[in-house]
Amino acid sequence: MSEKFIPLSVPNFAGNEKEYVNEAVVSEWVSTGGSKVGEFEEKIAEYVHMPRAVACNSGTSGLHLAMMIAGVGRGDEVLAPTLTFIAAVNPIRYVGAEPVFIGCDDSLCMSPKLAEEWLAAHTEMRDGKCVNKRTGAHVKALLVVHVFGNMADIISLRALCEKYSLLLIEDATEALGTYYTEGALKGKMAGTMGDAGVYSFNGNKLITTGAGGMVVSNHADWAEHAKHLSTQAKADELQFLHDEIGYNYRLTNLQAALGLAQLEQIEGFIAHKHEMYDFYKEQLDGKNGFRILPFAEGIRSNKWFYSLYLEDARHDRDAVIEHLKKHGIQSRPVWALINEQADYARNETYGLELAQDYRAKIVNIPCSTNLTKEDAQRVVDALLAL
Ligand SMILES: *Cc1c(COP(=O)(O)O)cnc(C)c1O
Repeated sequence: MSEKFIPLSVPNFAGNEKEYVNEAVVSEWVSTGGSKVGEFEEKIAEYVHMPRAVACNSGTSGLHLAMMIAGVGRGDEVLAPTLTFIAAVNPIRYVGAEPVFIGCDDSLCMSPKLAEEWLAAHTEMRDGKCVNKRTGAHVKALLVVHVFGNMADIISLRALCEKYSLLLIEDATEALGTYYTEGALKGKMAGTMGDAGVYSFNGNKLITTGAGGMVVSNHADWAEHAKHLSTQAKADELQFLHDEIGYNYRLTNLQAALGLAQLEQIEGFIAHKHEMYDFYKEQLDGKNGFRILPFAEGIRSNKWFYSLYLEDARHDRDAVIEHLKKHGIQSRPVWALINEQADYARNETYGLELAQDYRAKIVNIPCSTNLTKEDAQRVVDALLAL
């Protein structure tokens, strides 16, 4: 096949990337000092309408910081999704806590109904704390992931967290730019509606710094605590006094330079994601045993990843991926469920049927922000030939 390879999701550096990175190099501020980190934090904070955003070196470290500032610790339990990337859940283990895996709804995100069913059946309130009756552990938080840029049902999840005294942590690593367009949370951005929220700027995300992340919180002192922990918990700059165990989770000035240029283009990227999504939807939804899964109502999604759902049982997920590969097109299955991964096989689970179905039948198809109509047409043609 001599046709050009079509990747799943690659970065798009059509803006001021080279200029800003060059500025950083020329200034010799290439590491964790320099003005661009603070500038990038301010610009992200402004974009998501938060007073403060704290930069870090990955979404994963951001999620670790979020668990620490929320005070999730040894012996605690956290309700967590299973249909997601494992980096969302590992930070629960980093702090010595355990996830309880809850299934999804049709948004692909955690189902508030299933979470409530599990909480009602398996926990009781003791001294204002939600306690797992079987393990005796404090169920301290609920971690929700806004999968593929969709919005989880935050209104219901917040009510649930209130009822059971759980902290709400949002993994918005895939959902920068997703917000409510109506209802009680109109205008609110994914990642800004719980106790802490995290974004990622990994290479495959909507905007990238190569690697990087950002933490936001509705508790001002939590955001500052995240900054403190991410910068070696230095209590006194000159004397090298440290008041707790810190981390080197800092973003570099070089990375922030890239991020500033990327953020300038974010709305254009999202518009392109929408255009290509609409194209796939028109060409493939309801055709040849395929569906293009919708995003939630009442939101503006960033439409980061597109989900081709293999409705007709004659389609085999891995055969579809192999077929596309033969046509020079990269695609991928949705993640293997986290409760099936080696180190999570013994964790409690509830209501995973729908997650298992989506795991078996979703193929993510090319969605780069520089994907052309011609490329998308090739993807469509290859799929319709199945
Ligand atoms: C990308 C991603 C992460 C981790 O972000 P990194 O920046 O790659 O560390 C965490 N959770 C989810 C759901 C992700 O998609």
